[in-house]
Amino acid sequence: MNKIEHIGIAVKSFEQAIPLYEKLLNTPCYKTEEVASENVQTAFFQNGPNKIELLQSTTPDGVIAKYIEKKGEGIHHIAFEVTDIQAEMKRLVEAGFTLMQEQPKKGADNKLVCFLHPKTTGGVLVELCQEIKEP
Ligand code: ZN
Repeated sequence: MNKIEHIGIAVKSFEQAIPLYEKLLNTPCYKTEEVASENVQTAFFQNGPNKIELLQSTTPDGVIAKYIEKKGEGIHHIAFEVTDIQAEMKRLVEAGFTLMQEQPKKGADNKLVCFLHPKTTGGVLVELCQEIKEP
């Protein structure tokens, strides 16, 4: 795996969280993007070589809404950049980790992503992401 690509943070409301993180990181939010398949709205901040991804639910029963209901706002996942997501998924399955999906899917910010089940990663939701290269 390469560097940590981003840290995902579950928030209740962008209205409050975006200005807060702009102030904290001293950098403007450079992009917001909806991932309709996950019922989630994302907001990105660059911080050195890494990013912060804020996640806000678009529906009352979405995964992020449920997460906040159970655990409150806060760190939701850590995303690692990989060069070849298929190869990394294969390696991790062989090493005994459980993937949450069999195929990579299209995530926010021009990425192919795959999540690992927190049961097999010491309670941390881990995301793999590979940049989609423009043809
Ligand atoms: Zn993410």
